[in-house]
This record gives sequence, C-alpha cells and structure tokens, in this order.
Amino acid sequence: MDITIKNVRKTFADFPALTGVDLHIESGELIALLGPSGSGKTTLLRALAGLEPIDAGQILFGATDATNLSVQARKVGFVFQHYALFKHMTVAENIAFSLSVREGKTRPTSAEQKRRASELLELVQLKGLEKRYPAQLSGGQKQRVALARALAIEPRVLLLDEPFGALDAKVRKDLRRWLRELHDKTGVTTVFVTHDQEEALELADRVVVMSRGRIEQVGTTAEVYEQPATPFVFDFLGSVNLLAGEVQNGKLRLNGLSLPTDSQLSGPVDVYVRPHDLRLVEQTSDGLDARIISVQRTGPLVKAVAALAHDASKMDIELGHLDPMALALKPGTAVRLLPVSFGLFARTPHAEVQTLPDVVPNAVPEQRGDRARA
Ligand code: ATP
Repeated sequence: MDITIKNVRKTFADFPALTGVDLHIESGELIALLGPSGSGKTTLLRALAGLEPIDAGQILFGATDATNLSVQARKVGFVFQHYALFKHMTVAENIAFSLSVREGKTRPTSAEQKRRASELLELVQLKGLEKRYPAQLSGGQKQRVALARALAIEPRVLLLDEPFGALDAKVRKDLRRWLRELHDKTGVTTVFVTHDQEEALELADRVVVMSRGRIEQVGTTAEVYEQPATPFVFDFLGSVNLLAGEVQNGKLRLNGLSLPTDSQLSGPVDVYVRPHDLRLVEQTSDGLDARIISVQRTGPLVKAVAALAHDASKMDIELGHLDPMALALKPGTAVRLLPVSFGLFARTPHAEVQTLPDVVPNAVPEQRGDRARA
C-alpha cells in the first residue's frame, strides 16, 4: 500500500507541529522519520495512524482518501516505545487478541486464531515462549511480541514509534537487523520514528529528515549522508566542521587555499566538511595550517582536534588507525589539512538556507602557485 501525504498541517494551541508536509511512500518501503526531539515525527506518525486529526491537507492510502477514516478503517498496525502488552495474557494470547476482537464474519475461528498466532510466533522467532507472561520476557522479546500483535491484523501499513528506544544498545542493534529481515519477508509498508541517526541509516530504504515541523530532506541513506540538502541535515547526520569561505569563478577560497568547485554560488559561503574528509597532507602540499590540540585513539579510528592557524577555530579530524599520518599525531604537532569533500551553502544572515548543496567528491587542490589571498 503506498501512502501520499499532501500539505499536512497540524497546530497544537498556537504551536505549529507540522507546517505543510508532503511525502510519497512507495508500497513496501521501509521509511525512517528522523529528527531531533520536537521536530514533528510522532505527530506525523499519529496523523498517519488516524490518532491525530490534522488541520489541513490530505492523507491517501493508495488511491483512497484516508484523511477522515477511523484508526480501524485504516488497518494500520502500530508499536510504540513502551508497548503495553496485556499482563494477564500469555504471549500467544496477546498475539491472538486482535484476531479474537474482530467483528462478526471477519473473526477467525478459534482454531484459526491459534494457527495464525503460531505462525506469527515463528515469524518473530519466539516459538517456545508462547505460554510465558510478559513479566517473564526481556525487553527485546516484549517488543517482538508487540510487533507480532501489530502484524496479526494483517495491516496495510506498519507504524513504529521508537520501537527499540527503551532497550540497551546491543539489543537495539540485534532487533534492528531482525526488523529489516522481518520487513523483507512480509513486505508491509513500514514507517518508523527514530531520533537515532545510526538506526535510521542502517535500517531504512529512505530517510525523511525532519526539523521544526517540516521535511528538510528525503533520500536514500547514501543521499542524505553524502549530499545533505541543508546545513541542518549536514549537522544532524554526523559531525561536521564549519569554515568560512568565498566562491569566485568556480574556485572556493579558504584562507589562501584554492579548491575547484562546480558550485553556482558566488560570494561568501559556509563550508561544511566532515571530519573524515579532512586529510593530513605534507607540509610541502597545499592545505590549511593547523596545530593538533588533542588525540584520541578509539579502536579503528584516530580522532583529533586541531586549531587552525589563521583563526584558531577548532577542526575535528578522523583518520583510520593504519593511516601513516595518524601514527605520529600528538598534541602540539603542526599539520596541514586538506578538505577533500565539502558542502557549500550561501551565507545568509538568517538560519534559512535557500540553496542546494554542492558536495564535491574527492576535490583536489589546484597546483601550487594558484593560491589566492583570502
Ligand atoms: P520526540 O522525538 O521528542 O518524540 P517528535 O519529533 O516526535 O519528538 P512530536 O511529538 O511530533 O515531536 O511533537 C512536535 C511538537 O508538537 C513538540 O513541540 C510537542 O511539544 C508538540 N506537541 C505534540 N503533541 C502535543 C499535544 N498533544 N499538545 C500540545 N503540543 C503537542
């Protein structure tokens, strides 16, 4: 079932929680709504479920206008962070519950209910635990029962609100993989809310990045990470360094360093560089002079902080631990930094950004002698 969201708006008292959201979700997609707290993710999910009436706009399930349909009529399954399983019912009874309360002819016989519950138990890999009560399950097992229960109604759409939010990191990771496999088996269109970027990037077919009640960017995990459309997305998805530069005639000037760019921008720009896109180069090569302030070695990564010579601003750097340059790093070391990929945004006095990014993969500085004064 595909879903179309058209210009959906929702205001609580005078707080705009959704300010005109447009989104198309393909049938069978696994979509993550990702954003900081208060960005409107849950409100959008609840609007899809029919739990939150919207002020304006339209929600279509396939070709059907679902905007005013009840929760039941939408046939959605949902799972929340703290899903309340029925404490007095066993795992099997919890799963069969939504089948047993179906109305009239749609209610399966009790033998059929048992068969379906058993099938679902197998699907969520809880065979053998059917007679247990929720209190006898781990957090991860409870969430799997909750998912089985949501799937029991054969939903057209599955909506998950931080389903693994309350679980510890290891269990979360396992369940993520498990959910992806489950989704691939069932093919149910799934929308899940998370504020965990790793979770969104690892799990989803496409990620919807939200901020302040609107969508900042929609794209595959590679698109949103490698070609962030706005400074917000750049900043939200992983760490980033911000530099002041200027674009003139297809060149980005960064304090005397000149880098080629095919940006259409001209004039002062904000330059966004991820820590792993800063290379340490030889003192004889072009680059930005800096001095290492601190070095931290964490498994396969060497993370360092350096202060730029020209304005003392601090840069985060990330190198692989096998990088020969990484071996010699220590506080006080003079280094030369070369941004090999960056995003450019017109510098505006407001936070709003009006331009698309210009991420240059593997940009290399021009030959020496072509450096301009900043
Ligand atoms: P979180 O990650 O913290 O759950 P979120 O992105 O899901 O955040 P929402 O729960 O959608 O954000 O909330 C969006 C904004 O709307 C927030 O500022 C929130 O305080 C406000 N809001 C949500 N529900 C209500 C409500 N019932 N009454 C008033 N304001 C609300």
